[in-house]
Amino acid sequence: MNKKVRVRFAPSPTGALHIGGVRTALYNYLFARQHGGDMLLRIEDTDSSRFVPGAEEYIIESLRWLGIEIDEGIGVESELNTHGPYRQSERREIYHKYVSELLESGNAYIAFDTPEELEQKRLEIKNFQYDATTRNQMRNSLVMSKQEVDKLIADGAKYVVRFKVEPNEEVVVDDLIRGEVRINSSIIDDKVIYKSSDDLPTYHLANIVDDHLMEISHVIRGEEWLPSAPLHVLMYRAFGWEQSMPKFAHLPLLLKPDGNGKLSKRDGDRLGFPVFPLEFHDEKTGVVSSGYRESGYYPEAVINFLALLGWHATGDKEIYSMDDLIKEFSLERVSKSGAKFDYEKGKWFNHQYLMNRDDSVIASEFKPILDAHLSEEGVECKLTLEQIVHIVGLLKERVNFVSELWEQSNYFFVAPKEYDEKSLKKRWKEDSKSQMRELLSVLEKQDDWSASNLDTVVMSWIAEKGYGVGLVMNAFRICLVGAARGPHIWEITDILGKEETIRRVKSALDVLP
Ligand code: GLU
Repeated sequence: MNKKVRVRFAPSPTGALHIGGVRTALYNYLFARQHGGDMLLRIEDTDSSRFVPGAEEYIIESLRWLGIEIDEGIGVESELNTHGPYRQSERREIYHKYVSELLESGNAYIAFDTPEELEQKRLEIKNFQYDATTRNQMRNSLVMSKQEVDKLIADGAKYVVRFKVEPNEEVVVDDLIRGEVRINSSIIDDKVIYKSSDDLPTYHLANIVDDHLMEISHVIRGEEWLPSAPLHVLMYRAFGWEQSMPKFAHLPLLLKPDGNGKLSKRDGDRLGFPVFPLEFHDEKTGVVSSGYRESGYYPEAVINFLALLGWHATGDKEIYSMDDLIKEFSLERVSKSGAKFDYEKGKWFNHQYLMNRDDSVIASEFKPILDAHLSEEGVECKLTLEQIVHIVGLLKERVNFVSELWEQSNYFFVAPKEYDEKSLKKRWKEDSKSQMRELLSVLEKQDDWSASNLDTVVMSWIAEKGYGVGLVMNAFRICLVGAARGPHIWEITDILGKEETIRRVKSALDVLP
């Protein structure tokens, strides 16, 4: 019988959630939704030395912002949580039971070797590995009598429990992305699965016990965990759970933009783009790392961007809503090789989502940014919301982010205080001043300020005088905008209105040569 699809995202709260982790969460979510399954969030916090305060809340907020919904586990109403607790540090008793079980069945043993003793062995034996070839030379319950072991423990000696890997067994990891990965168990060392020092299991034990007890059907996680998978298979075998073991899918790494190596947490600041979903304030180090949300990304764009880093559908389609992804995603189409992190493509996605948004929605997103700039300039907004919507429609093609609209549109709100040197050099000629004086008197006479009327009148005046259209219109643009940029000139005069247009031409005439 096929198990119900249950997947989990199992981050460790060791800092901000890396964008690669977000992609893992996303693929798990898509898979769960596609199969009508459950998406769990489990916090793997057995390594207390790496715990970062605030990291768990950060993870929850990130997933929420991105629309990755959790059905069970951390951050979910308690009555849906039938397999809890979901924070590993709260599951000590459960792990005790399973560690004892492995000890009793002879699949694990107690080891007292101190870090110094282990270091000494590494010096003595080249490529030392704690395994079938060396365990008999070490201080553990395989070579000591039970009395000795009990006495050491009673005396408070620190110990670990190691999983006993039998050599020369074939281990097969059947990976949904990579196919069969076969290895010989002799290369696996006897991993520590429990430490008495903090009375906690290590990742390996906690991870497989939880996946079993939480009835996880598919483990979808990053490629960095592939080397652990054979050990996990052996552990499932030791518990007698191999038949019901989850299926594995190891996702390809996210690579640096140049393809050289794994995208690291530090690459963001080094290369100037966020590698975290939300801005993160590390309380321990005081370092603030930038986030996609604060950089002005739409969550839909981030989802779309991440979905295509490692997965692609059959056709050329690039724009996918979450619903499209849920329908079309498949683990079979996840690539085996690493996916280059193309940040420019991320911006392109945001642009696409911006272009597909209603101008009025963008205007409402832009308004607070605009108000902040205007208050900094000490200027009041003279334009109506309708006009702002119109401006957004004219300029959104030119930006990737809503915040960039200010740079593109500031002259609509604030008259130029200075005039761009480069534009002047190229576009403001000897005749410009006198032509602008004449244009001013043409404009002043107009009662009909519509774009079509202004175009007719101004063009016929230019033709009559035999002036160059480009020269006149560019000089005019400099007067209104302060530089040779912006949308069509009659769009600008329309929004500024007659009074403001005339005022700007006059001000320019006051200062320009
Ligand atoms: N706690 C591990 C991590 O931080 C989870 C690995 C897994 O999914 O098994 O990535």
